[in-house]
Amino acid sequence: MIVVLSKGISSHDKEMIRIYLRDRGFKLREQSFGEDAIFGATGKGVVDLRELGLLPGVERVAATSKPYELASRETRAEDTIVTVGASASQPGVKIGGSRITVIAGPCAVESKEQIMETAAQVRESGAVMLRGGAYKPRTSPYAFQGLGMQGLEFMKAAGEACGMPIVTEVVSPELAVQMNDLTDMFQIGARNMQNFELLKKVGSLKKPVLLKRGPSATIEEWLMAAEYLLASGTRDVVLCERGIRTFETYTRNTLDISAIPVVKGLSHLPVLVDPSHAVGIRAKVSPAALAAIAAGADGLTVEVHPRPDEALSDGPQSLYPEQFEKLMRDIEALAPVVGKELLRTPKPHHGAAAGHSADKGRAENAIAFSAQLSEVPTELPIAYCGESGAYAEQALMRAFGEEAPRLQTPSFSGIFDAVLDGSASAGVVPVENSLAGSVHENYDLFLRYPDVAIVGELKLRIVHCLIGDEKASLDSITIVRSHPQGFAQCKEFLNKHPGWVLEPATTTATAVASIAREGAVKVAAIAGEAAARAHGLKVLRDGIETNPLNYTRFVIIARRVGDRKESSLRQGKVPPSLGSGKPNKASLVFSVSDEPGSLFACLKILSEKGINLSKLESRPIQGQPWEYLFYVDVSIPDAEGVFDSAIAELKSKTRDFHFLGAYRAML
Ligand code: PEP
Ligand code: MN
Repeated sequence: MIVVLSKGISSHDKEMIRIYLRDRGFKLREQSFGEDAIFGATGKGVVDLRELGLLPGVERVAATSKPYELASRETRAEDTIVTVGASASQPGVKIGGSRITVIAGPCAVESKEQIMETAAQVRESGAVMLRGGAYKPRTSPYAFQGLGMQGLEFMKAAGEACGMPIVTEVVSPELAVQMNDLTDMFQIGARNMQNFELLKKVGSLKKPVLLKRGPSATIEEWLMAAEYLLASGTRDVVLCERGIRTFETYTRNTLDISAIPVVKGLSHLPVLVDPSHAVGIRAKVSPAALAAIAAGADGLTVEVHPRPDEALSDGPQSLYPEQFEKLMRDIEALAPVVGKELLRTPKPHHGAAAGHSADKGRAENAIAFSAQLSEVPTELPIAYCGESGAYAEQALMRAFGEEAPRLQTPSFSGIFDAVLDGSASAGVVPVENSLAGSVHENYDLFLRYPDVAIVGELKLRIVHCLIGDEKASLDSITIVRSHPQGFAQCKEFLNKHPGWVLEPATTTATAVASIAREGAVKVAAIAGEAAARAHGLKVLRDGIETNPLNYTRFVIIARRVGDRKESSLRQGKVPPSLGSGKPNKASLVFSVSDEPGSLFACLKILSEKGINLSKLESRPIQGQPWEYLFYVDVSIPDAEGVFDSAIAELKSKTRDFHFLGAYRAML
């Protein structure tokens, strides 16, 4: 138990608290941590916490069953999100929440050229932070010890050139002060996890800290080390599992995968995994990294070297840049399965990573009819349809961040209206579900709102729950509300309850909100867990979707500006989480004349130009029996002009042609 004392407490009050606790069987230790004075009370004593809380001089009592308080989930239920490298001009990189943050770089900074080259390579593959040791605590005093402050300067320059905050290990309190202005995040190495004077000094600098788990530390010792950092002043601690020492000798250490869910249960702090030091063998790094993501890690820190064979330290465990690239692609595919998004951040338009001038040139070329986000101030909200906790709101937070201002609309057309009249800068619209198919209502809206275009896409894994009042149970339910897609996706579960009456709602989250308002025990809703949380309701059954491979594709919409036919692409306003670089995918809707070979003629154009078709769906045109609209998603080839000419040809062969937008494809 921890008793935090009021500021300016009198010595009399302090003595009374001491006597009160000792009389009740506690051993006491007075400590000052940061700005607080506390009594740490241990032993088997019994106390009435409310009574203790009322004693003069007691600020608050943390009745944690754990010896750590600040790091404990008992004192803070929601996940901590740590921001690294934020400044007036940079939003910084976030770690924690629903994102996967990947840090990469060499074990050690070896030269300016080496760190510049590695930084550009890992950035290109999608790393958002740069790692590298300037001071290397090596097992042998004869091994390369790092370039010291000069290495850190090289690393800072590389991070700046590529738009990546940097993290580097600090090995002594004196160096912490010297390094403070150069690094964005301190790393406490595994060997120093219990160097308490170092923890206190680094914590007092109030900068984000990556705290490696000691090779022989228990989870509790690791969290106590985090407590030192937090108690000394910093709020931003990220834990890093990097393998522990076991009897196994085949790998360098043993990656403690189970520590990830355990720590995430015990603490609100983000948890990264370092698969490189955990396994120590290059070929085993990527499988371990993917396992870590599957187990719930908030990201990775991975060693990558342009030429691992020449590395001055940890070459055998450093990935080749191509291996890292492959790992990033695999993580991108895995992320939606665990309900997360791989974090991306914008690249600077200069320096090493921006060396793809050919790409840049092409991005500035006109792609026929392409859209761009309008020049509306970014503080304008993003619109979505439904209530708090809607799947669309989760998609919105993935794309624009948890803090993004939001505008709820009562209908899908409300999103289009808000985007068009400028009350929202963008909108998030579901267009397709992997089980239930296209959301025709929204395709129709694109045709009705030609001045709105698709500028990005996002895939969200859908896990449906049956949600009800606190007092409800499966037996008390007679009515179930949801969006018709919710019913369609949970058909097998609903078939087991034939007596239930299904009532359609505008969105899954509005169904949940209606129960929250009515408080009925007979009514349940099908929606996501976030909606239950947002409305204070209970999850009666989790994971009721027929097929767990259930994804909804959302598109980000914005107002078209300038000449719709000639407007060039400006990528700046598209959230970087949706991918940077020139658009490589486009969505079209068209109809063809009712004669043999008319659709074939259109597909032939695409085929001849090497344009890949990722979606082709036909749907009857309302009021025109036996006439069909085609929904088509296509790739945009790299070669200049090919796409524009294909679109021009397609237009001439189709009857009713709509270009919905060009954007970056998600995997
Ligand atoms: C490192 O990250 O470079 C390192 C030395 O790791 P650890 O402290 O986990 O051994
Ligand atoms: Mn290393």
